[in-house]
Amino acid sequence: MIAMILLVLSLALALNRKISYSRWRPMHKLMGLVYGLIIAHFMSAPAVFVEIFRASGILLLLAAIIGVLSFLYSVFGMNKRTALRYKIAAINHLERATEVMLEPLGAALKHRPSQFAFVEVQGKGWSEPHPFTISSAPGEGRLRFTMKVLGDWTRKVREELQPGGEVIVRGPYGRFDTSKGGNRQIWLAGGIGLTPFLSAIRAMQPGDDRQIHLIYAAREARDAIFLDELKDRAAKLGNVTLVPLFSDEGNYARVDMMKVKLPDPLNTYDYYLCGPRPMVDTLMRDLKTEGVAKTRIHTEAFEFR
Ligand SMILES: Cc1cc2nc3c(=O)[nH]c(=O)nc-3n(C[C@H](O)[C@H](O)[C@H](O)COP(=O)(O)OP(=O)(O)OC[C@H]3O[C@@H](n4cnc5c(N)ncnc54)[C@H](O)[C@@H]3O)c2cc1C
Repeated sequence: MIAMILLVLSLALALNRKISYSRWRPMHKLMGLVYGLIIAHFMSAPAVFVEIFRASGILLLLAAIIGVLSFLYSVFGMNKRTALRYKIAAINHLERATEVMLEPLGAALKHRPSQFAFVEVQGKGWSEPHPFTISSAPGEGRLRFTMKVLGDWTRKVREELQPGGEVIVRGPYGRFDTSKGGNRQIWLAGGIGLTPFLSAIRAMQPGDDRQIHLIYAAREARDAIFLDELKDRAAKLGNVTLVPLFSDEGNYARVDMMKVKLPDPLNTYDYYLCGPRPMVDTLMRDLKTEGVAKTRIHTEAFEFR
């Protein structure tokens, strides 16, 4: 009973989005303990050896094993994953975002385009690691991260981070991989959601046989970071059509707009979406309504909760 109350309490806390991530994280980890209590309770029940051979018992046991393994991985395994030392080589102050360039101090991270990594600045007052998409292409030598100023940590990056400092990078993670898609692709970026596509376009070589429409939605032109680089790359590659959309001009990333701008029926493309959650959710819903198969829609979320 106590374990159940604790479970409901920790669930309510975990789902409360008003709690900051740094407070939420330890509470979330605590759920592992509560989960352990529930399993211990189940295993110590007098009828456990009868229950365990019933379908419900087997299901509970499976859930317990998966839960314990996931907990152990998140606490011990994930943090051990290739922690590599990097030096801050340069910092670029962009419109409402900061580009941090890192050079390896030893072995360099091996990654695919659009994957992400955890960045942990070394030094007092930098708290926990934060996840960011690697916006550089694999093999560039330097790792680039483009960080929108959102809260305390990203503001500190903008105001205090200096070249020469040390950073631990853990990763890579993520399966948002446009190279696995078909020949006709829509890449839809909302604001800072551009970063996975930046990495992908930077990794592309001339002769790529995919036809790609990169729809880049931003509030206004000056918010659209890297727009000139994108135009330049699209012109050189030849197979990428760049469609910038600025909401202050009344242009939004919407399915009715896509119907007008795209040369082929909507259900003939593979979609890669990254941006604010309401935008991505609306697009997914509307694309499905237009008959686009779920398996053709791929999304990357910039939050874990
Ligand atoms: C897979 C992935 C890729 C991302 N890529 C980028 C990117 O390329 N560019 C970019 O600007 N942002 C990216 N983000 C978002 C970025 O991690 C957050 O904006 C940043 O951590 C905010 O920290 P803050 O303290 O400044 O803001 P806060 O206001 O404290 O946090 C804002 C939100 O960011 C998330 N967050 C905060 N701290 C952490 C943390 N330590 N670990 C995980 N999530 C956290 C929470 O959802 C929180 O609600 C990515 C997130 C994920 C999950």
